[in-house]
This record gives sequence, C-alpha cells and structure tokens, in this order.
Amino acid sequence: MTTTTRTTADWQALDAAHFLHPFTDFQALAKKGSRIIERGENVYLWDTDGHRLFDAMSGLWCVNVGYGQQALIDAATAQMTKLPFYNSFFQTTTPPAVELAELLAEVTPPQFKHVFFAGSGSEGNDTVIRMVRRYWDLKGQPERQVILSRWNGYHGSTMAGASLGGMKYMHAQGGLPIPGIDHIDQPHWLEHGAGMTRDEFGLKAAGWLEQKILEVGPDKVAAFIGEPVQGAGGVIVPPATYWPEIQRICDQYGILLVSDEVITGFGRTGNWFGCETMGTRPDLMTFAKGVTSGYVPLGGVMVGERVAKVLIEQGGEFEHGYTYSGHPVACAVALANIRLMREQRLVERVRDETGPRLAAVFESLRDHPLVGETQSCGLMAALQLVRAKDGTDGRGTPFDPALEVGMVCRGHCFGNGLVMRAVGDRMIIAPPLVMTVEQVDELAGLIRLCLDLTLADLQARGWV
Ligand code: PMP
Repeated sequence: MTTTTRTTADWQALDAAHFLHPFTDFQALAKKGSRIIERGENVYLWDTDGHRLFDAMSGLWCVNVGYGQQALIDAATAQMTKLPFYNSFFQTTTPPAVELAELLAEVTPPQFKHVFFAGSGSEGNDTVIRMVRRYWDLKGQPERQVILSRWNGYHGSTMAGASLGGMKYMHAQGGLPIPGIDHIDQPHWLEHGAGMTRDEFGLKAAGWLEQKILEVGPDKVAAFIGEPVQGAGGVIVPPATYWPEIQRICDQYGILLVSDEVITGFGRTGNWFGCETMGTRPDLMTFAKGVTSGYVPLGGVMVGERVAKVLIEQGGEFEHGYTYSGHPVACAVALANIRLMREQRLVERVRDETGPRLAAVFESLRDHPLVGETQSCGLMAALQLVRAKDGTDGRGTPFDPALEVGMVCRGHCFGNGLVMRAVGDRMIIAPPLVMTVEQVDELAGLIRLCLDLTLADLQARGWV
C-alpha cells in the first residue's frame, strides 16, 4: 500500500497500534489520535487533512533553515550515492567528517579547534560527562567527579542526559540522577526573584553556584553545565548579570564550564552560539539539532583547547564512541546547512532584523489581558499566561496549574494553524531562522488571534 491511499483515521489507528511516542501518555494519545504531519515547505507544515500550520517551533527547535532546502537534500543524495556509511573507529575517516570538523572549528569561538561527533544532543552530553571526568583523571585530580547543573534545565533523555537535566518528573522514573550530579536553582526571575531587579537577581542566582561548590567541596567539582537560554524549561532568558558571574565563579574555582548549545547553537540567539550572546568562554560545548537543521540526526561536543590538549597529549586511548560518530551523510548535510546559513546571512538576519522584530512583537503582546511576563532572545521567545495583570513588576497572578491553561491555549493554536508549545502556562516559540520580517508579523497576528480565542474560552468556562 502506498502512503497516499491511507486516510488520517488509518494512520491514527496504525500509530496507536504500534508506535510508542517520546514523552507521551500512550493510552491518552491512542484515544485522541495523533495529528499526522505529511509535508513541509519553508516555515509551514501540512497535515493529512490538508491543514496548513505555521511551525513556530522549527520542528523541535531544529529546522533552522526551514523545510524543503534543496542544497541539503542534494548533499544527502550525493553522499548516500558515493558512500552512505563508513565508521571513524579504526584509524579511518571520511571527507565529509573531516571537512565538517574544519568548518565547525571556523564558526565556533576561537578556543574550539576539535570536535567529537555523536548522534544526538543526549549522546553529546553523555560524551561531556565521560570527557570531563577523564580530563580530571589525567590532571591527577580524580576526586573531581561532580558535575553541577540546574533544576529545570534540559540536557537530554539518556541516563546521563536526564541526570544532568533538572526535570524532577524525569528523575522520578528510573532511579535518577546517576551518582556525581548535583543541581542548583534556575535563574528564573519570575520564580525566585520577587522584590529584586533582574540584574540583582542574576547575581544572586549565579551565587547559588558558588554556594554549591563550597557545599560539595571545591576540589570535588569537575564542571558546571547549562543552556545559555533554557529551552525546554520554558525559554527562560537569564538576567544579563547571570552568565558573566557564572564564568567568574568557574574561573575562580578552576572548574570546567560546559555550554549546552543544542538549542542555542547555529544562530538561534542572533550569534552563532549562545555563549557569544551571553558572554562566556566555555571549555566544552554540546551541539545537535541546528547543525543539520534536523534534516538528519547529528550531535557532538566541541572540545576547547584546555581539555583537548590534555586528552590528546596525555590521554592515550579514549574509550568512548558511537557507530554514527562522524556519519558521512549527516556530516555532508551539516556542511550544506552551515554553508547555506552563511550564504543567506541567517545569523546576521536574526541579530539585526527578525530578532529585534520578534522582540518588539512580544513586548507589544503585553497589552493583552492574558499576558504577563514576555521574554525573547534572537528567535526564541516566551509569554506567561496570567489570570490577572495586577502588580507593578509584570508578574501578574498565575492560574491554578491544575487548570492547564497552557494546554487550552495550545489547542487553540493547533486549531488555528499555529504550532506554539506550552510549558505549564508559558507559551513558547522558536521559529525557523529563514523567516522573513513579514512572516514575523504574520506570526504575531496568529498569536494574538489564538490569545483572543483562549481568553473567550476561559471566560466561557468562568476561569477569568
Ligand atoms: N540539550 C538540550 C539543551 C536540548 O534542548 C536537548 C533536546 N531538546 C538535548 C540536549 C537532547 O538532545 P536530543 O533530543 O537530540 O538527544
């Protein structure tokens, strides 16, 4: 049977019968039926009922160059034809992997000259843990084992990735975190910063790192890892004072700084990497998603010279690697993707045109009765749904979380041609970097429409 002969109901029945989706209540989805996405072009998707959706989440924070880019398709086809796979284990390599390593060294900050390839962001962060601990072993400080991260951070779904992450509902399944990982609170002004300016709060939140280092013992801490802007946690943009102070504390105690750039890498924040936007000099940098714009899976770790030198000159064999480390097709697609980003000056466009326009749009949404705090950074943004806008600092009064107002809003978005994600009552977007200024305005109109529909719905339910 060809795909075109199946109806939406056929797909839903088959999906429910056989496919266990990530982060999903299987039974609830089986009852409801999945939405079947069939086709994409530029920033738009179409489902099997012919509905068009504005994909303001870039797939899953990854389709940075948008759908249907012929250069990436051609690169994959050509590489598959020539050499679909060869490994990089036994003293072998392939031209696309070498060329991508060279190009990554060029587009990343100057401390990065080496890359370790993986298949995903989670695998990249597993690599980070092994590499960080190996580094301190080689430095003669094997007791430096502990890696610090943040509550409500997201670093993947493998045992190590989920442990680094600070999602308590993930830890609750499977006995996590693994040993040697500890968390501090997130730099979320709305949650922890009452009575403080954002800048004051940023310094206080960074101070939690120092407190934790002193609690654990400075000679036991190996590294600190964080997302420059928390993505899955709800697009939480930290105060401007936060990251410089984190850098200062890492320097003071000599601990490695790891920037998880799986979402913020490759232009999302208006620079090539989020650490450039936030003003840090990480020793290691995890990437995935935007490196290929999600067209094929690829992830990895950029290894700064401080760590690379030790691993290379003193390390001997590093007992770690994946079948798909340096997959030639993935690397060929990444090369085409990064070259396209350069040709189309996508990073500069986000920094100078679409990013500032999106920031203005989100600021203007604050006049809506349902909108409290808004935040944006490059092409990622969030708005907080509130029951009332009282108070002077923009916090407003939250809804009862049990009402799941964010999900109500998300339903109106989906029903009206907009993919916007809900994290609790925080609505978030991260649209493709190819979007035009006109498309930012189109998106603004859709968001306002969906907020109006949500408001009417909540009024009808008597919730506002
Ligand atoms: N780190 C961050 C910051 C992420 O956002 C994600 C995925 N959303 C990951 C790591 C894990 O990446 P993957 O799903 O490719 O394993």
